[in-house]
Amino acid sequence: MSNRWGIPKETEEIVKKRDLKCIYCGIEFTTSNDSRKSKPTWEHIINDIRLNDPENIALCCSSCNASKGSKRFEDWVESKYCLNKGISSETVAPIVKRYLERNK
Ligand SMILES: [Zn+2]
Repeated sequence: MSNRWGIPKETEEIVKKRDLKCIYCGIEFTTSNDSRKSKPTWEHIINDIRLNDPENIALCCSSCNASKGSKRFEDWVESKYCLNKGISSETVAPIVKRYLERNK
């Protein structure tokens, strides 16, 4: 069983339990319907929908997702958006740091 992004149910469960904040900017997600707060969106750290394991699937806020789009993290992190928000390879969640370690 997969959700509409093609993410397996078991991966979805693992990621939802793990990522309670945006993996990039660290904003806390809300589970209520309060639209003023941030809602989690599905993120493929490596922008390849075939990579559906919990090391590539994560949750980030909609503004980070919209800003990052299909860019590589290494390129996106140098964007104005990241500079303004103080996002760097030092401030991101452990899963992003592991990705950076693997891709050195
Ligand atoms: Zn964010």
